[in-house]
Amino acid sequence: METIYALSSAAGRAGIAVLRLSGPHVRRAVAALTGRGPGRPRAAELRRLSDPETGAALDRGLLLFFEAPHSFTGEDVAEFHVHGGRAVVAAVLAALAKIEGLRAAAPGEFTRRAFEAGKLDLTEVEGLADLIDAETEAQRAQALRQMEGALGSLYEGWRARLMKALAYAEAEIDFPDEEVPGDLIEKLGPEIAALAAEIAAHLNDGGKGERLRDGVEVAIVGPPNAGKSSLLNRLAKRDAAIVSGEAGTTRDVLEVRLDIGGVPVTLADTAGLREAGGEIEREGVRRALAMAEAADLRIVVAAPDAGGDFALARGDDIRVFNKLDLAGEVPAGAIGVSALTGAGLERLEAALQDRIGAAFEAREHPVITRARHREGLRDCMVSLDRAGEALGRGLDAELVAEDLRLAARALGRITGRVDVEDLLDVIFRDFCIGK
Ligand code: GDP
Repeated sequence: METIYALSSAAGRAGIAVLRLSGPHVRRAVAALTGRGPGRPRAAELRRLSDPETGAALDRGLLLFFEAPHSFTGEDVAEFHVHGGRAVVAAVLAALAKIEGLRAAAPGEFTRRAFEAGKLDLTEVEGLADLIDAETEAQRAQALRQMEGALGSLYEGWRARLMKALAYAEAEIDFPDEEVPGDLIEKLGPEIAALAAEIAAHLNDGGKGERLRDGVEVAIVGPPNAGKSSLLNRLAKRDAAIVSGEAGTTRDVLEVRLDIGGVPVTLADTAGLREAGGEIEREGVRRALAMAEAADLRIVVAAPDAGGDFALARGDDIRVFNKLDLAGEVPAGAIGVSALTGAGLERLEAALQDRIGAAFEAREHPVITRARHREGLRDCMVSLDRAGEALGRGLDAELVAEDLRLAARALGRITGRVDVEDLLDVIFRDFCIGK
């Protein structure tokens, strides 16, 4: 096994930079850089770093050593906390490259080693990746939970129950004449049904976890000149869209990123929905319609001078009646605002917060955060249902056992317990170097 190293903190000028090493040659590398091997594990020591070949001083910094297997990767790990200047980092990296048996780490390689050492399961690995990518509070909370094993232990718990059911079925196969398993149907039927119900409930989560990772799409739609761009600017609290009095100025879909109650939201202003004149505008309208269709939530805007009704609005769309400063009467069920004066804006923001922030509040149960999990769970359900059916029809225990085995394997692939070699490159590809 090679020893790997990387800059684990962000590249660029900073107060401190952290360089990390992992592998069997860590002790030797520490000695080569600082004159002696690591001291007590998990205790910070101030060391002078020098070039292993020329002896030239590079920097002074902290050394932290974690002895195998009590480290992130399960191998010997050392961290150097040096001054975060570009030249310092470059010099230390160059010095590390000179030490035999060391090489620069590939993206995600530290975490991959942690997975291979059994320190993290795949859902925890994904949680870690999400934690690094988290931009909002709700994303952070969801990622932390997953990194700490909430999802993994849910799936491993189900898998353990499946393995137990499988053991019963196998006992029936191996000792058909003995009393060991008793009545297979009586024993397994309720358990298979219970597992299937729990997994089905877990699958039926409205895709919240995935949406929180990706961000929620909100589209602002309405006739030209209703004040959609003005409203977007108000909500974004900056001039993101060009506002003009001439109908049909917002020709394309314009997006801003917002943080609503800890949830990342992409707010899209769309071209006015009307009979379009020019070709570019027609394309804008086409995109607007597609965007509005795909959005998780729509804000439908009407205004007294641009179409005062909500003909476009459907079911749970948020209805906004803009230009309150021009007309008094707000249609029933709509929120009256003025993008010009800012009147009513808090009510609109509160409505968005209600609809989006509240929907993603941390719940008791961990949620599915990736299509990969969903696919695994669906595969598991298919096999479970088949096992239940075979059992119900009084079929051979071997058929039941085979389906239970497949169901368990589908769960095992989610956590990475079984044959996942093919998945690993895809999962670790998205990591940054040094992680
Ligand atoms: P869009 O075509 O729906 O994106 O509408 P714009 O945001 O470009 O606004 C169209 C026109 O209405 C512009 O002249 C705005 O200044 C004006 N406008 C927008 N909101 C208000 C408002 O609340 N009150 C008034 N009086 N004018 C507004």
